[in-house]
Amino acid sequence: MSAALAARRVGSDAARMQVHRDIPGLRAALPAWRARRARIALVPTMGALHEGHLSLVAAARAAADFVVASILVNPTQFGPDEDLSRYPRDEAGDLAKLRAAGCDLAWLPTVEAMYPAGNATSVQLRGVCDGFEGAARPGHFAGVATVCTKLFLQTGADIAAFGEKDWQQLQVVRRAASDLDIPIRILPVPTVREADGLALSSRNRFLSPMQRATAPLLHAALRRAAARIGAGAALRAVLAEEEAGLRRAGFAPDYLALVEAETLRPLDAMAPGMPMRLLAAARLGTVRLLDNVPLREAIA
Ligand code: AMP
Repeated sequence: MSAALAARRVGSDAARMQVHRDIPGLRAALPAWRARRARIALVPTMGALHEGHLSLVAAARAAADFVVASILVNPTQFGPDEDLSRYPRDEAGDLAKLRAAGCDLAWLPTVEAMYPAGNATSVQLRGVCDGFEGAARPGHFAGVATVCTKLFLQTGADIAAFGEKDWQQLQVVRRAASDLDIPIRILPVPTVREADGLALSSRNRFLSPMQRATAPLLHAALRRAAARIGAGAALRAVLAEEEAGLRRAGFAPDYLALVEAETLRPLDAMAPGMPMRLLAAARLGTVRLLDNVPLREAIA
């Protein structure tokens, strides 16, 4: 079967979405859109899609003419002791959601298509990926930067949408694309939250009912800390108090830190006039929760 025939059309005529699983199929599909000078936007995901992912698709649709969403549970960004095998997967549900969200092409490469035998190239960064998630998960950002670089080059996308929820990841891919002169605009998309403030995440389903009730306290702590620091309270004292509060609530905090928003450089004090971000990671049982807020929220 030719690559073009291998492209499976799903859905009604009004909402047709191509699904491709190998590089030749993807390569056959994109030139028609490029010939129309269409702007292509990419939404990289690991599937198990929720409203957070769909807000990226909506932002991509608003910014471009043709939306490609990729789904790959990327093994190279998981450490040996991490949750690769239990990472949630729901391909049929994901495709239905992408179709309903108006995605034009679902790019579902197999692991073998992404990393053929003999594959030996990876993208490594310094600085922006050294601390925080980079320190907690050695090799994670090399896996992220490599897979994102490959997705950028495979699709030739003009724009790629990433969630602010994974703030460090957003800065890592921005840095990698810029350093490698890949002509792509990284589009940041605000974090989608539950009504109680918990950031949507594919991993939230692993929280027990009690942990789920506790989980929003992470965002509450970040917001409170941002407000207090913004109002002039001493940074170290505020962070120590909030971290202690999280421990009392049952979290095992990994970090709670103020950083320069773009470089992730840790700050000891407010740096007026500079975009700053408060970052947090904390475990509840086996589930690691990430969140972050801009510091200006405190002043607003
Ligand atoms: P993942 O499938 O978890 O690798 O996430 C794929 C993309 O969705 C990344 O750019 C994430 O930052 C983004 N994302 C995940 N959760 C949310 C959320 N709650 N709000 C906005 N974007 C999100």
